[in-house]
Amino acid sequence: MSSNRRSFVARGLVAGAGGAALGLPTVVAAQQTFNWKMTSAYAKGAPFYMDGPGSATDLAKRIDTMSGGRLKIQVFGAGELIPAFEGFDAVRAGTVEMNHANSYFWTGKTFAAQYFTAVPFGLNFQGINGWFYDGGGIDLWNEVYAPFGMVAMPCGNTGVQMTGWFKKEVNSVADLKGLKMRIPGLAGKVYANLGVDVKVLPGGEIFPALERGVIDAAEFVGPFQDRRLGLHKAAKFYYTTGWHESATVSELLINKAAWSKLPKDLQAIVENASAACNVISEGWCQKANSDAMEDLIKNQKVIAKPLPDPVIAALRRETEKVLAEGIAKDPLTRKVHDSYFAFKAKYDRWQEVSEEAYHLKVRG
Ligand code: CA
Repeated sequence: MSSNRRSFVARGLVAGAGGAALGLPTVVAAQQTFNWKMTSAYAKGAPFYMDGPGSATDLAKRIDTMSGGRLKIQVFGAGELIPAFEGFDAVRAGTVEMNHANSYFWTGKTFAAQYFTAVPFGLNFQGINGWFYDGGGIDLWNEVYAPFGMVAMPCGNTGVQMTGWFKKEVNSVADLKGLKMRIPGLAGKVYANLGVDVKVLPGGEIFPALERGVIDAAEFVGPFQDRRLGLHKAAKFYYTTGWHESATVSELLINKAAWSKLPKDLQAIVENASAACNVISEGWCQKANSDAMEDLIKNQKVIAKPLPDPVIAALRRETEKVLAEGIAKDPLTRKVHDSYFAFKAKYDRWQEVSEEAYHLKVRG
């Protein structure tokens, strides 16, 4: 800007009414401050979910800073205000304005919610973001929650998770029969179809159960989170190939009536801060998992390997059956499923000649 132009603008601002006549921005005299509450399904201080780059507390802090303190969000860990899995009902009732968790906890309310966290044999981090931001995914998410008076958006991602910890090697589908395994959600149903005795335990109970032999195998998250629980001390075989959660999405769930009361600029701040945390949290996981995996293999002598191909084929077959049951029951789930997998079919072809070609031919 030339010095002439600068002084002209300065005069305009000082002149007030003259500024408006020049088309300069009008300053809103009284800007309302909003004080919101956000609950989480995870405990206070939990890395990635509640603490650290891209976490729930980081999201609230970014929104506070970006809004100049006009949108203040008080963050509560699981059990501080409400129990871990009551976020859906609390946001729906308007008791709290926001909840930070994963949509697959709400499959009992609406099965389609599964698709906005992780579908077995689903999209990777880049792919799910393509579907969300540009392939109609977020619009479908909001359509699924419309009857509940809520809106949602992605606000974090773990990237690909690990199949989990096994006390004994898995060499065939037959080895799964009778195996007692901690594995929640849709993946649990898939394993159950193959004869696994599925157990659902909270994170804190996994290590003692695995160590004492109450369970033979356990899935949690990935190298950083799993090492934190000490799972490598209770089982030696670490199966990779996270077929069940290829890029697990964290969900920001918002009461729609509260959302519609926010001015457009604050809505934009929430959307942009969530998108930032989506990327930043996944970046944090890549670094944390790289460090943890090196330690697990080099120092803890963990045996990491993929599941055998016939086991993966059986898991894929059973996944298709479980998903088919879900879409047969509910037209909205079918709509989400069709959108997700139509996107994935094209994305897979693109992956083959882009990222996969790079990894196979170039990376070394
Ligand atoms: Ca998991």
